[in-house]
Amino acid sequence: MAIHVTVWNEDSAQESAQSVLAVYPKGVLGAVAGMFENREDFFVRTAYLSQPEAGLSEEILEDTDVLVWWGHCKHRLVPDEIVTRVQQHILRGMGLIMLHSGHESKIMQRMMGTQCSLRWHENQDKERIFVLEPAHPIMRGVPAWFELEAEEMYGERFDIPAPDALLAIGWYESGDVFRSACCFNRGYGKIFYFQPGHETLRSYYNPYVQLIIRNAAHWAARDRALDRVLGSEFAPPLEEKK
Ligand code: ZN
Repeated sequence: MAIHVTVWNEDSAQESAQSVLAVYPKGVLGAVAGMFENREDFFVRTAYLSQPEAGLSEEILEDTDVLVWWGHCKHRLVPDEIVTRVQQHILRGMGLIMLHSGHESKIMQRMMGTQCSLRWHENQDKERIFVLEPAHPIMRGVPAWFELEAEEMYGERFDIPAPDALLAIGWYESGDVFRSACCFNRGYGKIFYFQPGHETLRSYYNPYVQLIIRNAAHWAARDRALDRVLGSEFAPPLEEKK
């Protein structure tokens, strides 16, 4: 059964800035969706903010095993009721992959319970990403370390709760470091935050970045057999009192 992936972005390809289209001709949305296209293990659809219900209707989320999110400037424009709807799906088992500047999205802050703020600068620093957990399924096929020619620097402290698994740490030539690949469990859902992916730099062409994102989709995918409803249930005693 193919994993149903919904790739969400605040901009459609048409809405993307020229500086973005110069690097990613189909926008960041198209670049990320392209990682899942023409593969037997995935069925991919795209969604974006200017669509009705921000592209995330109940029907689409119900048919989504993993939601992949990229946003930057328009976090505040995502309606709160959509954030609550996405949260409910995650708690029931839908996976969430949060990319790059999605760190301060409403849904990330909602799921973490913290600001998710960080230190940053745009100086086209080289980044070297070190894998800390090579046995984790998300890091399958990834070497001990790999380099990105240029990235926006995201540095510590990253205001997140301690990850349930910390899979990689990034070092930048500016001297900064960052927890660049973090796993969280929330309810029955799995969340993966992955730092690379500034919109005018080329990280989404890197084969290891692509591999990690695809591996993460396999890891985080909703298990339909375990799909749960939320809320407590009355439980009569299992044994009779003597
Ligand atoms: Zn950025």
